[in-house]
Amino acid sequence: MTKRDYYEILGVSKNSSLEDIKKAYRKLAMQYHPDRNPGDKSAEEKFKEVAEAYSVLSDDQKRANYDRFGHEGLRGMGDQGFTDINDIFSHFSDIFQGFGGFDFFGGGQRSSRQARGADVEVRLKLTLQEIAEGVSKKIKLKKRKPCDTCSGTGAAPGSQRQTCSVCSGSGQVKQVSRSVFGQFVNITTCRNCAGQGTIVGKPCQDCQGDGVVQGETTINVKVPPGVTTGNYIPLRGQGHAAQFGGQPGDVIVIIEEKEDDIFERHGDDVLLDYAISFPQAVLGDEVEVPTLVGRVKLTIPSGIQSGKILRLRGKGIPHLNGNGSGDQLVRISVYTPTRVSDHERQMLHEMMKSEHFKPSAEEEKSFFKKVKEAFSN
Ligand SMILES: [Zn+2]
Ligand SMILES: [Zn+2]
Repeated sequence: MTKRDYYEILGVSKNSSLEDIKKAYRKLAMQYHPDRNPGDKSAEEKFKEVAEAYSVLSDDQKRANYDRFGHEGLRGMGDQGFTDINDIFSHFSDIFQGFGGFDFFGGGQRSSRQARGADVEVRLKLTLQEIAEGVSKKIKLKKRKPCDTCSGTGAAPGSQRQTCSVCSGSGQVKQVSRSVFGQFVNITTCRNCAGQGTIVGKPCQDCQGDGVVQGETTINVKVPPGVTTGNYIPLRGQGHAAQFGGQPGDVIVIIEEKEDDIFERHGDDVLLDYAISFPQAVLGDEVEVPTLVGRVKLTIPSGIQSGKILRLRGKGIPHLNGNGSGDQLVRISVYTPTRVSDHERQMLHEMMKSEHFKPSAEEEKSFFKKVKEAFSN
């Protein structure tokens, strides 16, 4: 039987780095992984084939021999192939470790005897007002909690948990595998009892022996002022209950800011657009503007131009670190009336004749400059 070229099998070139070879193998091993292709013989063959190619190309000496003499060059260096899939896992354990969610040998995440409960993620939408002031919220959520009927043991009331016959109560099993690379001992979590060392004799009716049931709960979360979208608040130990007395998970509250109708947030500053009348712009005035903490007085200086930004210090959003607050910026625009009386029209015609109502050449220049600056940003 002629063997395929190892480089071809992994889809890499002859001068690929070890890192690239490893990457290519990792990808193919995932693709043909038996957990992903249950009962598929051809996937299993592929899984073995890529492992063989990788075992040669990841070994400097073997790779050098293979490069010079091909498959012939590996004679006398042992059988490169794998007959037992478990040998592949144990030999390349570094490759298979922490592979997203895969539970090798039933071990992995359950290796601890007291598995931790899962986290519960909840999104909390807040108004800008709530963010400015800080807020306490009650959140209703579904989570697993210990079963009351069996007090979380999973055993029907009156029945006892029994020592697991597979692991004799240790919760772990040893797997010894022999290969051309030597003997490997794998200690893995017992699948029969999920590492508990005991199994339920007669399962509890209410939780089917799980020890946990689906439930609903209300939690309180205190949000400090100054948070922003993406901030999160962990509530330790308030998440899903773990099976059989392990640590419960956390609730992770993720903050989402609702868009505000009148304020635009820029960091901890807020921007308000505010229109004034033409006479107010000319003569100046004192007005009341809304802020996140109620209305405050604002002085409009005489001769103010559209686009001018006035600053209300400390009226923005409190800094999250508790040290002061941002500002409120008020962007002024001058309102142009669309309806005028005959008398007003007359006055405006008068004004139009006056030089005072036209920008000077200097002012016009600076106005154009501002427009240009706005576009160059
Ligand atoms: Zn129960
Ligand atoms: Zn067991």
